[in-house]
Amino acid sequence: MMHPPRLSLPSPFNKGVLILQHRLLKQTARLNNENQRFKIMHASGFYFDGKSSKKQSARLVFTGTAHWFVVSDEGDSLTTPESIAEARVSSRLGNTPTLIRFSQGGIFESVDHEALDAMLLPHRPRVNWAHRLESRLRYVVAGLLVTAAVVFCLIYYGIPAGAKAVAFALPEETTRVIGRGTLQLLDKEFLSQSKIDEQEQQRLRQRLLAFIPAINNIPVSVEFRNAPMIGANAFALPSGTIVFTDQLIFLAENDEDLLAIYGHEVGHVSHRHAMRQLLQASTLAIAVALFTGDLTSTSSLIAAAPVLLIQSGYSREFEREADLFALHTLQSNHISPKHFSTMLRKISASHQEENDKPAPDAKNAPEDHEGSDKVRWQTYLSTHPDTEERIKMFDEAR
Ligand SMILES: [Zn+2]
Repeated sequence: MMHPPRLSLPSPFNKGVLILQHRLLKQTARLNNENQRFKIMHASGFYFDGKSSKKQSARLVFTGTAHWFVVSDEGDSLTTPESIAEARVSSRLGNTPTLIRFSQGGIFESVDHEALDAMLLPHRPRVNWAHRLESRLRYVVAGLLVTAAVVFCLIYYGIPAGAKAVAFALPEETTRVIGRGTLQLLDKEFLSQSKIDEQEQQRLRQRLLAFIPAINNIPVSVEFRNAPMIGANAFALPSGTIVFTDQLIFLAENDEDLLAIYGHEVGHVSHRHAMRQLLQASTLAIAVALFTGDLTSTSSLIAAAPVLLIQSGYSREFEREADLFALHTLQSNHISPKHFSTMLRKISASHQEENDKPAPDAKNAPEDHEGSDKVRWQTYLSTHPDTEERIKMFDEAR
């Protein structure tokens, strides 16, 4: 079979020809089971670049030399060719989409099982075995029973209550591993080495840890990072590590300003909000996938995992719990709660300022209609309706 003359599909006629070609390809592939190693083949589906949760229509092209790569509908290569023998392919489960992970982090998702099988079977006999196994009726029935049981439990116990119970029951080692992994992902995507002087970092770290060294048996640790993409922010990881951005440190006029923010973040650690947020989000995605039989939302979630924790922000309830913790801690240490409202005002203003001017890296930003990651980061605090209310609570406290 020929490679389609062009990879773009402008007219319905071309598209029709391509569909015919595609069908023919698949039929021939079935007939010539042995010779298909050397054919060019296609599978349609979607591509996630692994950096944003954006999903784009794309095709997987099998080169005939046991390599494959992904092209966009416009014909642009989205990945470099990779060997099929080494590819990471999710095992096929009924009609759920098959996921193929590329080494640069992109994911190709497809329900074009026939085309995928034609590409994979000669090179990956194991897939065949897994497919046959999973196709058997009794596995389907068992799967349905498990699904029904899980759905029942989700409804019965409620996702947030379940997430809370699990978060408090998890062994320290688990939260430490998850925390470290999250920080590594964040470092890869959004954070860089702090520009703050090493000695000053050490002094601040000691000051903060002397204020609250641990909470509810979770040892707290402090990290500083430069984060132009995120701006002034601080966040607590599931392990109890609290990350301050340089941009936030620069807003503080004295140590008490930072102690106030630290108190709020330790509040999040004390209630295990980060772990609960992660558990809730993943449970919800799995629940949606179970109900709809569509695992698309799950793969979007995986692609968006690095930013899930902070980008989506916490619920009003979680923020209030952390605020109350900060307030009580400041009051019992005779530090004015106004340090917190001052900082909240400054952080809010700094993000507002960033919003008002065009993003400097706008031309490099992905062409996402919802705006770049940068814009989404910024909108959280500045447009949060509760910010004014939170400021007021600390302003009025004594
Ligand atoms: Zn918070």
